[in-house]
Amino acid sequence: MSSIESILQRMETSQTHTQDQQSVEDLYEKCQALANNLWWSWTPEVEHLFRDLEPVRWRQLDHNPVALLKEFTPERLFERATEMVLFSRINQAFRRLKEYMASRQTWGATHAGVLGARPVAYFSAEFGIHESLPIYSGGLGVLSGDHIKSASSLGVPLVAVGLFYAQGYFRQQLSPEGYQEEKYIDTLIENLPARPALDANGEPLIITIETRTGKLMAKVWKIQVGRVPLYLMDSNVEGNRPEDRTLTSRLYGGDERTRIRQELLLGVGGVKALQALGINPGVFHLNEGHSAFGPLEVIRHRMEEDGLHFDDALREVAMQSVFTTHTPVPAGHDRFSPELVEEHLGPLRDQLGLSYEQFMSLGRVDPQNPTEPFCMTVIGLKLSRTANSVSQLHGHVSRRMWSHLWPWRVESEIPIGHITNGVHSSSWLAEQMRNFYDRLFPANWMSSVGEPEIWQGIHKADPGELWEIHNTLKTMLLSFIRRRVVSQCRRRGESEAALEKARNVLDPTILTIGFARRFATYKRANLLFSDLDRVAALVNDPCRPVQIVFSGKAHPKDEPGKQLIQLIAQLRTDPRFADRVLFIEDYDINVCRHLVQGVDVWLNNPRRPLEALGTSGQKVVLNGGLNLSILDGWWAEAYDGVNGFAIGKGSHHLNDAVTDKRDGAALYEVLENEVVPMFYKRDIDGLPREWIKRMINSIATLAWRFSSDRMVMDYARHAYVPAAGGLSCQMEN
Ligand SMILES: *Cc1c(COP(=O)(O)O)cnc(C)c1O
Repeated sequence: MSSIESILQRMETSQTHTQDQQSVEDLYEKCQALANNLWWSWTPEVEHLFRDLEPVRWRQLDHNPVALLKEFTPERLFERATEMVLFSRINQAFRRLKEYMASRQTWGATHAGVLGARPVAYFSAEFGIHESLPIYSGGLGVLSGDHIKSASSLGVPLVAVGLFYAQGYFRQQLSPEGYQEEKYIDTLIENLPARPALDANGEPLIITIETRTGKLMAKVWKIQVGRVPLYLMDSNVEGNRPEDRTLTSRLYGGDERTRIRQELLLGVGGVKALQALGINPGVFHLNEGHSAFGPLEVIRHRMEEDGLHFDDALREVAMQSVFTTHTPVPAGHDRFSPELVEEHLGPLRDQLGLSYEQFMSLGRVDPQNPTEPFCMTVIGLKLSRTANSVSQLHGHVSRRMWSHLWPWRVESEIPIGHITNGVHSSSWLAEQMRNFYDRLFPANWMSSVGEPEIWQGIHKADPGELWEIHNTLKTMLLSFIRRRVVSQCRRRGESEAALEKARNVLDPTILTIGFARRFATYKRANLLFSDLDRVAALVNDPCRPVQIVFSGKAHPKDEPGKQLIQLIAQLRTDPRFADRVLFIEDYDINVCRHLVQGVDVWLNNPRRPLEALGTSGQKVVLNGGLNLSILDGWWAEAYDGVNGFAIGKGSHHLNDAVTDKRDGAALYEVLENEVVPMFYKRDIDGLPREWIKRMINSIATLAWRFSSDRMVMDYARHAYVPAAGGLSCQMEN
């Protein structure tokens, strides 16, 4: 330690000692407060604090500060903070958290004041906030997480409602043959920043739902995400039947009965929990159909409180409800048999005074058709006056798909608009890029990432500097990948020679493509390998080679998806691909963050128009990566010819085989003729000028538009404020 540092340290410690006799306790409490609000997860200074306390444990514990602090006594923490000179950083971080929580001057206060007394209640089956809180599986969860983070920062009054999954989604590892194996790990609740939500008497809240076959109960956990409280229903309570105690153990596990019971807890249970907590929402936002039973409980409550008739109560509740649909595939919408619905919603149906047929018709496109199953999207649409899809193209698809619900309207008049999703900049942005923007943009630019003006500043950037930062990030990504690959090899018990090879795999000078997402078959992870010779030629080009990194999980019941994983994982046994095509196991938010911060190109090649959005591509934008994508989801409205690359011309054929063949050929063409030559074309300074120009175009045109701040502002203006009875502002189709 240098002498200056040690003097500073002594000054600091003595200062703290004299200022506060209880500094040991005080310091411990401040760290606890920081660990127990997920605000830390998008505030790098605070994250670094935890990391610096114990860097190795930090990584081993999945970057979980609650678990980390459990390993310290207050005294030991004090000692460690002294050693590491952390006092002023901890005090400063704590002060910032307090200021953040107390601040009243926000975008929301100015633009969504009507929500002040009666917040938005945001329902979602999953929330992807951070890798240490495993209650998400993929894109829907990450979107929900990003939504509530932006609502918090913008000061849009919102409470979130979800389910507590005691085992989360599975952890993935591959067998030596490349076949996916699933492991379920119990989450220790005491390692999460969760507290029991308390009822009016200060007791842990338990909610109860009557069904035709008995009671279903849940306790409620509260997790603080910045200014947004997140309430999670947990069925593991005494008094529930044994099979119900594990009802919320796993995300998307079990059968149809599990699923409807989970959805009953999320929607009806969630509304009951808010009532019991004295929270009276002005708006109900159903993020996807899983929670669409919820408004029925609101209607019941309204009938009881205000003596309204069902029809009048429905009309009023629908005015307050916002429904977002995410699924362009008809089979992807939850549908239940009338028997299951009657078993679970029967008692509520009685209270609503509806006949069996009347009730079932709420979930049917054709109310008269007794054979039609009960569809959660249909009831969601019928119980909400405001409905939206998640991109412009998905809006067209959704209006067509649900046009039968409004047979008297032409397609363009179907009342499903669109608000294109975005990502939470602070959560996905690499620190080095943030520092770079700090130097270019006005102070406090992070508070207006959803506005176009600040991003224009990127045109002043020095191309050489941007390129250098990108290459630093790429090198960091490669070390992360090597670490992962080494531990994968070690687990499989491979030889020392294989380990040594893994330690040096990949080359930072080579064009690096990333592909990571769920291995659903429509995402076509194998499209690049439709012609093995042609891709081998690309990968092994002596002057202009390519390397590709894959990651992603297949749903445990998705056999074709698992075969796609195996196909790619097994390329490591083919000498043409062994060192240049890798698969990283156990895709999660952490793996994703590393990938999107360091790749040159993010590849997305779904079968159009099945990708409603494709969030991950938005995460590379602000980090300087370029998108190479089918013109589907967000890319159909984002691509302008010079801010990334397009595969094909944005059309599709009715026959999948024809589409796949054509898209496969288009993918090779754009790689061979545009992407690879542009990446390797260097000027006299060794810079790929044209490429860097595209990085700049991408940042300038896309970063603000596809940020979740812009998205939440759109929801507030076009959905929340009108639904809360404020001035209306029409949503675009
Ligand atoms: C962003 C993200 C996704 C969603 O990616 P898509 O491109 O929408 O498929 C899925 N999983 C994780 C862990 C993510 O971070």
